[in-house]
Amino acid sequence: MTKIITSPSKFIQGPDELSRLSAYTERLGKKAFIIADEFVTGLVGKTVEESYAGKETGYQMALFGGECSKPEIKRLCDACKAQEADVMVGIGGGKTLDTAKAVGYYNNIPVIVAPTIASTDAPTSALSVIYKENGEFEEYLMLPLNPTFVIMDTKVIASAPARLLVSGMGDALATYFEARATKRANKTTMAGGHVTEAAIALAKLCYDTQISEGLKAKLAAEKHLVTEAVEKIIEANTYLSGIGFESGGLAAAHAIHNGLTVLEETHHMYHGEKVAFGTLAQLILEDAPKAEIEEVVSFCLSVGLPVTLGDLGVKELNEEKLRKVAELSCAEGETIYNMPFEVTPDLVYAAIVTADSVGRYYKEKWA
Ligand SMILES: [Zn+2]
Repeated sequence: MTKIITSPSKFIQGPDELSRLSAYTERLGKKAFIIADEFVTGLVGKTVEESYAGKETGYQMALFGGECSKPEIKRLCDACKAQEADVMVGIGGGKTLDTAKAVGYYNNIPVIVAPTIASTDAPTSALSVIYKENGEFEEYLMLPLNPTFVIMDTKVIASAPARLLVSGMGDALATYFEARATKRANKTTMAGGHVTEAAIALAKLCYDTQISEGLKAKLAAEKHLVTEAVEKIIEANTYLSGIGFESGGLAAAHAIHNGLTVLEETHHMYHGEKVAFGTLAQLILEDAPKAEIEEVVSFCLSVGLPVTLGDLGVKELNEEKLRKVAELSCAEGETIYNMPFEVTPDLVYAAIVTADSVGRYYKEKWA
């Protein structure tokens, strides 16, 4: 039985790490091609410029157009080649990083990603999500390798709205439970093999870190401060959850998130916010111990993550619509089949509606 764990070569984290960007790109090549969107260029452009001032390593910055689409990837691939750059760098949010990963892959050069938010666990993974130019999902681009370096400038990340960090906590909340289910079911992960002990240990540490540091980190992030708790949560949201999901496996929580996307009312919610509710629904689906459910609900309430469908913007419990959510969660190839028992749309529907009742119950009880 093949077990596989995969990760970036280096994960670098701390305040002002972006000001050392030239030193990191220098280890991989002579000229860096750096992409960032307009907002991020305004935020970090000067820092990047200063980092390269007087250095032998060269760099060229280019504006990212905003969509990780095939035409945008092609445009940036050509621009990168024209510059004869030998290191690809993406600074910004998920779409920028995914585009940088794709450009580096097609041009066969190492990739550095520097997330400016910690709202999901995608940055460390060997995966890019490709969208059509109109913003609709097109396909997953599975990459042979993870980004070479991941650089987290915690000062920059703490300057973002706290809701983004909290959303990352929601994404990271699911990681251990999904990895645990995948391991119990003896299924394979996106890393291409079975779950290693290391991946499970990182996923568990990810969960424990959320419970012990989440609230403290949220309160500091609201004032845009970098405390030790913020550092621990940034590492957990990005590295622990990133390795945890890719090498530990996704299961019901993310499948239910995908199902929830059919509800128009939830479109204003972030990925991690929907995943948090998906986590609660997974715990109901697998009939997890009451103490575990209480710990998860209490955590969500403390940091402001959704525990009811109402929290996600769903105004009324419409059976027809919720059955559609359950059906989509059980679509062919969905990660819900990593659960260690047979899953049907009926069971998922029951879990979603019960998770909502459980969330309401505790909200009232602990109000
Ligand atoms: Zn996720």
